[in-house]
Amino acid sequence: VPCRLAGTTKCFHSKVPGLLSFRDANASVNALVHIAPPERVDGRLDLRVAVKDNICTSGMPTTCSSAMLLGFTSPFDATVVELLQAEGAQLIGKTNCDEFGMGSLNTYSFHNPVINPFQAAGSTVQWTDRERRSAGGSSGGSAASVAAGLKESALATDTGGSIRLPASYCGVVGLKPSYGLVSRWGVVSYADSLDCVGVMARSVDTVKKLFDVISSYDPKDPTAAHPRARKKAVKASHASWLRAPGESLKGLRIGIPQEYFPSELDASTLKPLRRVLEYLKSRDATLIPVSLPTTPYALSAYYVISSAEASSNMARYDGVQYGYFSPTPPDLDKTKAANVYAHSRSSGFGNEVQKRILLGTYALSADAFDNYFLQAQRVRNLVRADFDRVFAVPNVLSPTRRKNKAAEEGIHVLLHPSAIRTAPPLESRDDAQESDESVLDAYVQDVLNVPASLAGLPAMSVPAGLGEDGWPVGVSIVGQWGSDELVMEVGRECE
Ligand code: GLN
Repeated sequence: VPCRLAGTTKCFHSKVPGLLSFRDANASVNALVHIAPPERVDGRLDLRVAVKDNICTSGMPTTCSSAMLLGFTSPFDATVVELLQAEGAQLIGKTNCDEFGMGSLNTYSFHNPVINPFQAAGSTVQWTDRERRSAGGSSGGSAASVAAGLKESALATDTGGSIRLPASYCGVVGLKPSYGLVSRWGVVSYADSLDCVGVMARSVDTVKKLFDVISSYDPKDPTAAHPRARKKAVKASHASWLRAPGESLKGLRIGIPQEYFPSELDASTLKPLRRVLEYLKSRDATLIPVSLPTTPYALSAYYVISSAEASSNMARYDGVQYGYFSPTPPDLDKTKAANVYAHSRSSGFGNEVQKRILLGTYALSADAFDNYFLQAQRVRNLVRADFDRVFAVPNVLSPTRRKNKAAEEGIHVLLHPSAIRTAPPLESRDDAQESDESVLDAYVQDVLNVPASLAGLPAMSVPAGLGEDGWPVGVSIVGQWGSDELVMEVGRECE
């Protein structure tokens, strides 16, 4: 049974026709950490949805791929889950991810890594002979369950690229909506000011179908965007560029950010990108080079802010009120509460999460606050200002909102590579001892995705073809806040 939550589930699946091949596929990919029991199947709507394991479901465990939450089942469903179920969607299970969403390769998981299931059309290579590559993270299980070709779509979360990076590595479509459009109620927080729930599927049409169901105002989420702001943003977007059905992309201005081609970018990703650009040009879109000068600072700012927020969010898992309790060993004085907490936290959290807690706590400490946390917030504002400067559409949320002076010169969407390379090979068990270099390398994978996260903008990765190594390459489309429809419309052209 692929489910590793021993003792928390019973396996009914062998009795269900049609699920057998599904189980076999999952056993080699490790995308699902829990498969929904068959009684949940009603199939009114033709949507089979896998749910990332940091989104609460009352009928299935929610572990966030952490020992800390092993055996935890939420008493309620997240709003996104409720919305999908109300439409008759069939939940098929919970997907593997990096622990609490922290990671880029889905290797920091209590349930072990996800194996990238991508198989080029026509390839006859046996599964066992294939190179083992990462499915990307943190939503690797969601991307892999879509890519494994089982007619699934998936719910996932994106804090700093966790939908777009695995989508790019696995060759599927992944949308991170504008911040605040989709409810976070019942979604386990990693970094609240960045966390977004989004969708992965094989086509932009299916992504849109799911997005339309889940993007509704939820008063239970205090950071939810108000219906007035949503309406205003859609109106502004339509006023700027609207295509009549069946028409070309005439008048659409696509910005190519010059800073999104850093030295780390693998040249083999450029050919598919160029092909997409040429196609868009042939459809009468105008390509315009633009500059977003704060981009090189975004990654550092992202890791300071996300770790600071994570350190605060992870504080609730103390093993006493909440989370895994590990009995205090005899060599520790158990009359001291700090020892009891520390022991449970050291055993329940994996190394990467512990590292982020330390980094975040340090950034928030009195000595480091100004130099790290505050500085990172300043960079975040500059990143936002960069985007607002180039878009033709004003940001309806920006307090210093002004009509873009050069609206007729502004761009409608940005387009750039989703990742600096194709899926990286998974390290073998022997060299799993990570060097500082490989940890940093994992952080850098999201360098092109974090700016849109810092600015709360909609961004979608669409498969653009294969790199020279035969693995998928994705391109990302980024729009102004609330232009999610436009992002999907341009994404559909790139498919
Ligand atoms: N690589 C980023 C991180 O580790 C992405 C995480 C995410 O989007 N959940 O923080």
